[in-house]
Amino acid sequence: MKKRPLRVDVITIFPEAFPGYLEASILGRAQKKRLLDVRVHQLRRWTHDRHKTVDDKPFGGGPGMVMKVQPFHEALVSLGLRSKKSGRKTSKAKKTRIIVTSASGKLFTHADAVRLSKYDRLAFLCGRYEGIDERVLDRLADEALSIGPYVLTGGELPALVMLDAIARQRPGVLGKQESLAEESWSDGGREYPHYTRPEVYLGMKVPSVLMGGNHKKIAEWRKEQRKK
Ligand code: SAM
Repeated sequence: MKKRPLRVDVITIFPEAFPGYLEASILGRAQKKRLLDVRVHQLRRWTHDRHKTVDDKPFGGGPGMVMKVQPFHEALVSLGLRSKKSGRKTSKAKKTRIIVTSASGKLFTHADAVRLSKYDRLAFLCGRYEGIDERVLDRLADEALSIGPYVLTGGELPALVMLDAIARQRPGVLGKQESLAEESWSDGGREYPHYTRPEVYLGMKVPSVLMGGNHKKIAEWRKEQRKK
């Protein structure tokens, strides 16, 4: 039986930030092969005023604007993932994970990429301004993830970073050339160093063990390098 594609919905006020990266290379190929089905949605679709407002002033005062809960709620309702009345999970959302991008979320790791690659469906909610109303996380999303201890201007790059790392864990997404088995972090450590022609460049030589053709020794050297 053919495996269903991983469906990914991204909700953002900057959908134009996505096409270039999504169409290139491995992710582009995965979509053509129907292994990945990415849909990017304009959050403003789910606003009801003339200015398509998605943000408002923070309660309690303070700088900046906060993204409103209502457009995210209605977006998830229209995707069939949350109930209109309560905002709680629908039955369709069982094998789905809804992720809020957040600088203060849990740090996204290789283990999260593997874990999230096992869902049928994912949705990324991209914040902007000072961030998203906390009730999105309390009721509508399953988890908040950060891609690192720094603050970006929006959740679009974090969504792309996570989507890329997750997609390459799906069976068939990587070709034979790109093996997952020995990659960095697959066993908690770094990958061994790579070299290609020429053998000497700017006086820097390729380690002699790689030039000797002794596969046992090469494997031992690579294993050793992974520990460093
Ligand atoms: N006021 C927030 C704070 O101090 O944590 C930063 C908000 S940031 C300017 C706007 C949005 O970018 C966030 O809501 C989040 O969606 C996204 N973002 C920024 N840095 C991120 C990171 N390191 N990981 C994931 N998302 C991030």
